[in-house]
Amino acid sequence: MTGRLEGSAALVTGASSGIGAATARVLAGQGAAVALAARRKDRLDDLAAEIGERGGRAVVIPTDVTDQVEATAAVERAVAELGLLDIVINNAGVMLLGPAVGAPLDEWERMIQLNVLGALYVAHASIPHLLAAAESSPRRVADLVNVSSVAGRMTRVGSAVYNLTKHGLGAFSDSLRQEITRRHVRVSLVEPGAVDTELPDHVRPEVAGALRQRLESVERLEADDIADTIEFIVSRPRRMAINEVLVRPTEQDQ
Ligand code: NDP
Repeated sequence: MTGRLEGSAALVTGASSGIGAATARVLAGQGAAVALAARRKDRLDDLAAEIGERGGRAVVIPTDVTDQVEATAAVERAVAELGLLDIVINNAGVMLLGPAVGAPLDEWERMIQLNVLGALYVAHASIPHLLAAAESSPRRVADLVNVSSVAGRMTRVGSAVYNLTKHGLGAFSDSLRQEITRRHVRVSLVEPGAVDTELPDHVRPEVAGALRQRLESVERLEADDIADTIEFIVSRPRRMAINEVLVRPTEQDQ
């Protein structure tokens, strides 16, 4: 297998479904070795087998990224097994929509633990390896891609804490970008609109109907559309950094 990412090694969080699984497939298809992190090991095993059958290399790292020790161990294991880490896709996330008034506090805590702290733990553990890879890897540049959302750019009633987490991720990304870009670690933010994945399946039953109706009112993106966008970002020449990409379905106006 030869591709644009031959010699690269990527860690993808949330690789057991949706955008993360699609991204791992696309990066592996371009020759990157991939470390697959999420909680559902059976899904990761299936994906690793599929990548292997196509001539790629994937390692399965069952991980709950909301646990700082597990998140750090996942990064270290990816480096140990793949020999370097020059691409990190911080993708794991959850969207528990609904009115803020009377919301179950545990939903807010879950979003902050995963979308904010999980992403931070993975970034914190990865950055030293990305900096090292930028000096010595074949590409001599490294990439941290944070998967945010349209919800990181605009707010909506019923999305208050999801908005908070994704706006926060955007702020973190841009500050970190300024800190390390001269050392050739590119920090990129990807902001998808509605993508057809398992993401809406976790909302409360009383919110599910209206959400489904809103999502089904447009032709949604496919996970591969975002995976292709991420692959484009990380395969740019060393001189070129794509800082931020907002990708909506054509029919989605907000
Ligand atoms: P999915 O629900 O299909 O994927 C979410 C992934 O996160 C799963 O692989 C899940 O795996 C993983 N995950 C959940 N909790 C944890 C955890 N504690 N530790 C590790 N992994 C975890 O949704 P998407 O693919 O759509 O979501 C991916 C990202 O894209 C999210 O950050 C989301 O906010 C963002 N996004 C999605 C949009 C959409 O319309 N779908 C729009 C805008 C942004 P497991 O359960 O096995 O741990």
